[in-house]
Order: sequence, then structure tokens, then C-alpha cells
Amino acid sequence: MLRQLRRTGLRALKASGMFRLMRESGQRNSRLLIICYHGVATADEHLWRPSLYIQPEVLDQRFRLLTKGGYNVLPLGEAVQRLRTRTLPPRGVVLTFDDGAVDFYREAYPLLKSYGFPATVYQTTYYTGYQRPVFTIMCSYLLWKRRGEVIAAGTELGLTPPLDLRTAESRQAIVRNLIDLTAVHQLNGQQKDDLAHRLAQLLGVDYEDLVRRRILQLMNREEIAELSKAGMDFQLHTHRHRTPMNEQLFRKEIQDNRAVLREITGKNPVHFCYPSGVYEKEFLPWLAAEGVVSATTCDPSLATARDNPLLLPRYVDTSGQTELEFEGWLTGTIELMPHRRNGRAKGL
Ligand SMILES: [Zn+2]
Repeated sequence: MLRQLRRTGLRALKASGMFRLMRESGQRNSRLLIICYHGVATADEHLWRPSLYIQPEVLDQRFRLLTKGGYNVLPLGEAVQRLRTRTLPPRGVVLTFDDGAVDFYREAYPLLKSYGFPATVYQTTYYTGYQRPVFTIMCSYLLWKRRGEVIAAGTELGLTPPLDLRTAESRQAIVRNLIDLTAVHQLNGQQKDDLAHRLAQLLGVDYEDLVRRRILQLMNREEIAELSKAGMDFQLHTHRHRTPMNEQLFRKEIQDNRAVLREITGKNPVHFCYPSGVYEKEFLPWLAAEGVVSATTCDPSLATARDNPLLLPRYVDTSGQTELEFEGWLTGTIELMPHRRNGRAKGL
């Protein structure tokens, strides 16, 4: 409902010429739009998680709009620096991709290259050295494949039947049970992959086919090295995609992540992105102690020179966003409308 109202409002603003005015305004030109992408769908992933995936043809349309509107797509490091020194070029935009899945290599990179856009990949690294599907999201994907059903099995995996796959919530509850099982039995990567395989068998899904097609896998070391050489920027996202509430463990995630990236790319990453956009005020000094100079959230806003560099907002673009909304963000017109920051940090 609120969304519908916003779209109606945006349509009216566009028709009145406000998009054009805002695009050229001092307000827009002093701000930086950092755009966040997750996955680019190679099969049906955008139907499974529309809030995380974008179809390649939609991404192509977005890039066309960036070119047509004369937006300055900047490398992240340069943009952060110029934001702070108030020397941004007009209509500044940064493109970021979270996690570093294979689809970045296959779908996003060729498009970026054809448009000549720089981009940053916030690369989580555990699975770059272990070329199997990412366990948690694969379990979620497998259960979604049989959505709408109730399955009278699961004991053999340690689950309690029946498995209710009818809603996103009930499927998520099963994923949580599977995660708990991996913790209780202290399963290693190989054992977790076996568990996902057995779950697929139980659900009648061809796991080896998904593995062969590298669905829900991260880029391997060779792919990262190749893209880094070609000019793509690889930055921090933790080694295991988690942010423990303990300084030593949190910093170890950064250190392990950085060590892998440095070894593969020969460059020292100093920019960070909070996994799942979740941050706490305790993280800020820990990041600073690790020499991190910028960190991005998923709080939807354009970044200003007044923002804390370790809490830079980003706009998450997905297939669920219309072209009108995307343009609303590009031009900065969206800031004229009420929207909320989704900060998950206490006291920030
Ligand atoms: Zn992530």
C-alpha cells in the first residue's frame, strides 16, 4: 500500500519535471548513491528470492539508464574519498555486489565491462576455497523447490516430520533446524554439504546437477584473480559471512577475509560491507582497529559528507524495484518522499 503510494507520488514527480530538476540539483550532486546488488539470476533464483536477485536483462536496463542520464560511476575508494572532501563529480554513483557468487563472473562482469563501469565486489571467502554450494542458502533453495507441499519425512536427517514447505516462514524454520543440527554435531564443510545433498535426495531434487551448474556457489580463486587483474575491486565481507559479538572473533573474520583476498589479488582491501546489512555500534572501533576506512550498510539512503564513513547507506536494487523507483533513487528524488532507514544497530 505504502509502496503503491510511493510509486504514484514518484510518477507525479517525474511528470512534473522534478526528476530532471533533482538530478541537476546541488543536493544530489553533493551526495553519493551507492547501489547494492546481490545475485544476478542465472536460473530461477529471482523467483525464489526476489529481494536478493536481479535478472541480467533488468541489470542491463539499469546500466543503460546510468549511461543515458550522464551518471558518474566511480570506483568505491575514490568515491568515498571525494565524498569526504566534498569533491564529488555531479551525479555520483558507486556499484557494489555482495558475496561474490559465480553469477557475478558469468553475468554481471561482462555487462560492467561492456558499459565500462567500475564495481566493487564485497567478497566473502570461505567458499572461494571450497567449491560447493553455500550451505544455508542451498537448503533454503532446495526447500523452495518443493514449495506448497507438506512432506511426511525428515527423521533420517534429524528433522521432525512433517516438513511444512507451504510458506516462507515454515521453510525458514526448517533451515534454522538444519543450522542447529550442524552446530550440535559440529559438522565441517564436507559434512554440511553431505547434509544438503541428503536433503535434496529427500526432496527429489538433483543435487549434483545444481553443483555441476554451480548454482549458489561463490567465485573460485582463479576467477577472482582474473577479474581483479581486469580492474574489478574486491573488498571485505568477512570470511564466513558472519559478525560475532566478540572483538577477537569479529576481527579474526576480517583478518581471515583480508588474508585470502590479499593472497589472491595482491591488494590490501580496506573497505567493508556488513553481512546481511546488520551492524552494532560495537563494530565501529573494531573495524577502525583493522584499518577499515569505509563500511556500507543496507540502510536505504544517498550518502552525504556528514555520514560516518563506517556507516554509509546503500540502495538495494532488485528485480522487485521498478524502473521508476530506480530513477527516483538515481536522481535523488526519492529523498523528497518519506522513507525509513532500516538501521539494525542499537543506539545508532
Ligand atoms: Zn552478504
